[in-house]
Amino acid sequence: MAKVLAVNAGSSSLKFQLFDMPQEDVICSGVVEKIGLDEGIFTIKYGDQKKVLNTEIKDHQVAVDLLLEALVNEGIVDSLEDIDAIGHRMVHGGEAYSESVVVSEEVVETVSQFNELAPLHNPANLIGLRAFQKALPNVQHVFVFDTAFHQSMKEENYLYPLPYEYYTDYKVRKYGFHGTSHQYVSQEAIKMLGNPDHSKVIVCHLGNGASISAVKDGKCMDTSMGFTPLAGIMMGTRSGEVDPSIMPYLMKKLDCSADEVLDIYNKKSGMLGVSGISSDARDIEEAYNQGNERAILTSKMYARSISKYISQYYGELGGCDAIAFTAGLGENSAYLRKMIIDDIKEAFDIVLDDTLNETRQSGNRVISKDNSHIKIMIIPTNEEVMIARDTVRLLNL
Ligand code: AMP
Repeated sequence: MAKVLAVNAGSSSLKFQLFDMPQEDVICSGVVEKIGLDEGIFTIKYGDQKKVLNTEIKDHQVAVDLLLEALVNEGIVDSLEDIDAIGHRMVHGGEAYSESVVVSEEVVETVSQFNELAPLHNPANLIGLRAFQKALPNVQHVFVFDTAFHQSMKEENYLYPLPYEYYTDYKVRKYGFHGTSHQYVSQEAIKMLGNPDHSKVIVCHLGNGASISAVKDGKCMDTSMGFTPLAGIMMGTRSGEVDPSIMPYLMKKLDCSADEVLDIYNKKSGMLGVSGISSDARDIEEAYNQGNERAILTSKMYARSISKYISQYYGELGGCDAIAFTAGLGENSAYLRKMIIDDIKEAFDIVLDDTLNETRQSGNRVISKDNSHIKIMIIPTNEEVMIARDTVRLLNL
């Protein structure tokens, strides 16, 4: 039995879950928010307890120390020696990592080279690592990359039709993101299909950020996000794909810089931009139900941007056994799931069970009828358990 901490450090937050492995029992979970601001928030849940502490959390080291202190003070572990290993979410592994890896100084150096490709995430993930290394110098660490699962894509799928030397010189290519989630959900979908020798699964990870992937025999063939997480489908505030020529046109019209237009693509577009209401699918649904025209348009555009990818991936995979919905919106938004499936049901002979689609339930489930050509599934994602599994596997715990 091993106690493994799964950590996801962001620029101003740190999420964690402590697992008893290999049973995958969650001992405690929580988040430190607003790191670096005057009023930080530390929340920890264990058993039926939930504790919240509002205090200044000046940096990640303070956040880590708070967490470790709480583990001992609340009696969650007898001593910090009980923690056998720590697995860290690392967003970008570039082309260097197609698998999780045990952390060494050489690995940290390699990963640091990708900071430029994920400036908001990788440096924060590394700060998280350093803070834990300082607090627990004898514990081993593992990096689990968002990009790793997508490294099985072939050149024809990951290259952009730009001059080839931009790939060789500057590593401009499609990397894909949310890989840990796509891997977890596709593995669960394959289990639900009865572990066949061959499988074709399309995963729709629909959260604030959103991406689709095509998975053949458990390996990623293609995915919708690209060089950055801005590419692909329409999202909460991100545009997804738009004609690249809109950028210089808007720069002239708005008299602003490329970075400012990029900021619009990242933060003011997607559901928020089209609806003018909100980036949150719950607000869009409420307005949709009241007959708000822009909310109706937003929903149609959102569904269409996803159904286009599903159709493309059906072709690329040479068919499809299961479409799996996951993440905040994918798991919870029945009307958007229905709109997406309505778009493609005729082409692919899909029969959604409307009652199952609308029934709120937890856990993995099938929401299509038995006569559906493709099984439609809801599979709650669990990136943390993937981090803990890889940590145990790589360290032979
Ligand atoms: P995530 O990034 O996976 O946490 O997903 C966050 C997004 O999921 C939110 O911005 C909402 O748009 C969506 N979401 C969460 N809960 C619901 C719900 N009950 N119904 C519809 N959408 C939801």
